[in-house]
Amino acid sequence: MNQSLKKVEQYFESLEKRGVKSFLMGKTSAPAPEKVASDQVAEEIVSPVNKREDMMSLYKEVMKCTKCTDLVASRNSIVFGKGNVNAKLVIVGEAPGYDEDQQGLPFVGKSGQLLTKIIESIGFKREDVFICNVLKCRPPENRNPNPDEILNCQPYLKRQLKIINPDVICCLGKFACQTLLNSPEPISRLRGKWAVYEGVKLMPTFHPAYLLRNPAEKKKVWEDMKQIRDELNH
Ligand code: SF4
Repeated sequence: MNQSLKKVEQYFESLEKRGVKSFLMGKTSAPAPEKVASDQVAEEIVSPVNKREDMMSLYKEVMKCTKCTDLVASRNSIVFGKGNVNAKLVIVGEAPGYDEDQQGLPFVGKSGQLLTKIIESIGFKREDVFICNVLKCRPPENRNPNPDEILNCQPYLKRQLKIINPDVICCLGKFACQTLLNSPEPISRLRGKWAVYEGVKLMPTFHPAYLLRNPAEKKKVWEDMKQIRDELNH
């Protein structure tokens, strides 16, 4: 067995022995699992064991993935996703950026800080939801994902969503929305309108990175998030 995977397994075993029922996914290499444990383990999330096992099994599979030659050559980490496998809300972004690739965790840069505020604006904490991307590896220089890469990685996202089976999916930005809805429509037309992905209600909205460049659009995202809040509370 690959040494990194072995360490991850040992890490999860050590968490369970300590009674921690959390689900945390991140880096393939450094930081070592011990460092991740001390820095990142904050959640006490009770999740059905079978969901955790299914997600762990998928995680191991993704960590070995070499389907996209360009991305494999340039990536530092595979960013699987992080959060509660029993979440009511799953948030799907486009692809890891520099900070995410460095840390092996989704949405940890400036966009991630804004995403945290967006999540908190509807009464959730980050650890309540599950956050992942369409692509698990960073495109070089943050270029757009190409269609082959999306096709390669989409089955992993599909399986993550199937395992979690949330009440609502929130898609951030053009690539996530177009991928999950299989639609060429621009995000400006998709956002704010409920859609359905494999029986799950899906709300498309703008990506936080877009909001950082266009702060005036934050109001629209707030409107979209209120719809999600109302749907989850009703
Ligand atoms: S982006 Fe997805 S499909 Fe491509 S190498 Fe990374 S994990 Fe594999």
